[in-house]
Amino acid sequence: MTEPIQKQMEPDSAVYKTLLESTKAIPWKIDWSTMKFAYVGPQIEELLGWTPESWVTVEDWATRIHAEDREGVVNYCVSQSKAGVDHEADYRAITRDGEHVWIRDVVHVVRKPDGEVDSLIGFMFDITERKKTEARLVELQKELEALSYCDALTNVANRRMFDSALEVEWANAVKNRTPLAVIMLDIDYFKQFNDHYGHIRGDACLKQIATALSGAATRTRDFFARYGGEEFVLILPETDRASALKVAQRCRKLVLKEKIPHEKSQVEKVVTISLGMNTIIPSAQDHRINFMESVDKRLYMAKQRGRNCIVADD
Ligand code: GH3
Ligand code: MG
Ligand code: MG
Repeated sequence: MTEPIQKQMEPDSAVYKTLLESTKAIPWKIDWSTMKFAYVGPQIEELLGWTPESWVTVEDWATRIHAEDREGVVNYCVSQSKAGVDHEADYRAITRDGEHVWIRDVVHVVRKPDGEVDSLIGFMFDITERKKTEARLVELQKELEALSYCDALTNVANRRMFDSALEVEWANAVKNRTPLAVIMLDIDYFKQFNDHYGHIRGDACLKQIATALSGAATRTRDFFARYGGEEFVLILPETDRASALKVAQRCRKLVLKEKIPHEKSQVEKVVTISLGMNTIIPSAQDHRINFMESVDKRLYMAKQRGRNCIVADD
């Protein structure tokens, strides 16, 4: 007579032990009534440096959790265990060398026949590499976000960032009833500049002007961006007409000071800009698109009036 298959397949406890202790995950068991470790896999020593014998009570476990994670993890695990719910928790375990290892503890609650909690058994997984990858991904995401708001040529904020910044400042101005100024500026005869000096010198000129103008407005919330092509824009929150006009005048002078030769300009021997500006204390009924159109119109008027000049709201 052959033995029943079930019986043949059943490994004895030595096989279980070998299996448990050769896996990378670290098995453990805690008796619920005494809150003491009944077992912890010897692999724990290799991972954390603490000998298996040093894991006596749940206190030993709790004190070896990073202080920032400890309270949350202990409270969560205790409440889940009391409720008899299987659970898992990620935390930083403190190694004997004072380093940290990211652990995922997966916990199964074993109940007695009467439903009372008997013990907890679980596995600790080393998830340090996964956490490192996650952290790197978050970093990359941030870098990507920063890049997507930055103009690649000039390194100043781009049009997308401008749209977000204007939305925020417009809402602030409506809420606080404060004046908001916007200055738009455009390089004069830049097509001729490119045609005469070439696209590479054109790019260099844009970079130089962006750098010069990024210092024009000095308050912390002042915002400067490349609006597109050879146009730039400034948002000046909580700024009235007189102060905004001063910033516009400074911009015009800063560009002149760069003394970038422009033989084909019909206004000067060097690169110049034209500027349009407007200020508003917006109400909830006002739309920023209309306001931007009014700024653009003034920039157009500055071109009409001979360039290298500023047209402001009257
Ligand atoms: P105005 O004085 O009326 O502003 O004339 P303009 O020639 O400056 O204006 P127009 O709009 O006719 O030409 C703008 C030129 O700017 C055309 C385009 O080749 C150049 N431009 C736009 N973006 C870039 C860029 O990224 N690099 C370079 N090199 N040139 C650019
Ligand atoms: Mg131009
Ligand atoms: Mg233009």
